[in-house]
Amino acid sequence: MLTLKFDENVCKTCPTGDCLVKCQYMNVDKDTAKEEMVKIFRGEDSFVFNDCVTCYGCEEYCKRGNHPFYLITERREEKGLLTTPRAITRQWINIGEPQGKYRLGKVKEKVLSFGFMPEFLGWVKGRLFEDVMPSFVFGQEFFCNVVYIHFANTAIIKERLPTIVDNFKKLGVKEVVFMHDECYGSFANLAPAYGIEVPFKVTHYYEYLYNRLQELKDEIRPLNIKVAYQRPCSSRLSAEKHHYVADIMKLIGVDLVEREYQDENALCCGGIFSMCFGYGLADDVQKRNIDDMAEHGAEYCVFNCPACQGTLGEKVAKRGIKPVHMIDLCKMAIGEK
Ligand code: SF4
Ligand code: SF4
Repeated sequence: MLTLKFDENVCKTCPTGDCLVKCQYMNVDKDTAKEEMVKIFRGEDSFVFNDCVTCYGCEEYCKRGNHPFYLITERREEKGLLTTPRAITRQWINIGEPQGKYRLGKVKEKVLSFGFMPEFLGWVKGRLFEDVMPSFVFGQEFFCNVVYIHFANTAIIKERLPTIVDNFKKLGVKEVVFMHDECYGSFANLAPAYGIEVPFKVTHYYEYLYNRLQELKDEIRPLNIKVAYQRPCSSRLSAEKHHYVADIMKLIGVDLVEREYQDENALCCGGIFSMCFGYGLADDVQKRNIDDMAEHGAEYCVFNCPACQGTLGEKVAKRGIKPVHMIDLCKMAIGEK
């Protein structure tokens, strides 16, 4: 039985209530925030169950070691307050079910994980990856399953994640570089929150790219372009790695525009919103976000998560802003694109 680490006494003495005070989808003061989190912990009802749109933000806003979003999700699940109809949740859960159809490269002690994102099979090529490739894993057997937290389902994550950890362990790997941001967050943040031991080094691919670009420094030609960054919800689970966005941009001569919806104030791509909370919310968030990029003169929109790129890529392109994944941006800087 995996139990979430959460201390209600930490909430009672919290000086900020930032989890809900900073939430961009509710208007909550400090005292209310603290009271609601204690109520949620105790299994009582809260307006938060109705208003939370699963942006993951509060996992970043809480700096006191609690896990407000995981707690909200657990209680929603216990109360049967699902965010989508059961049939849709079941359909998604079936997609991620391990089926023995994974792909392995020539796995070494250091391996790249593509999770269950087929895009990386085509993208992870060239000089940036030549020191590790063809050491990779891909498929449901190595997919974190944390997307189901949007659907108020932690049971399936707690059931599958320990098996996924075991699948890596059986390969004898010592370090896994996660190309899927959410997989990284799962192993670096969610697993420890539930006391799941991860017996290998967990590396975010931004850190890997930054170090690799340092090695290839002589080949970098500054891009001299203005970009907006689309931060994914999953990045809230690895906020300590977010600084690599600015670090990489600086290294490759890219001007990261100072806009309203970035860093802690980032807005979601809206993909999950349209599925769980209606097109009205998705349209509003996407419009504000893209307007903000355009108003600040962004020429490119840089994506981390392929799913965000799938959701927003065409929409930013229609506004004259070129969509590009971070991997391709780095390739451009070393003349590979
Ligand atoms: S979850 Fe974190 S930020 Fe929110 S009230 Fe508790 S300690 Fe404070
Ligand atoms: S997950 Fe996002 S929407 Fe939900 S309470 Fe946390 S910050 Fe607010």
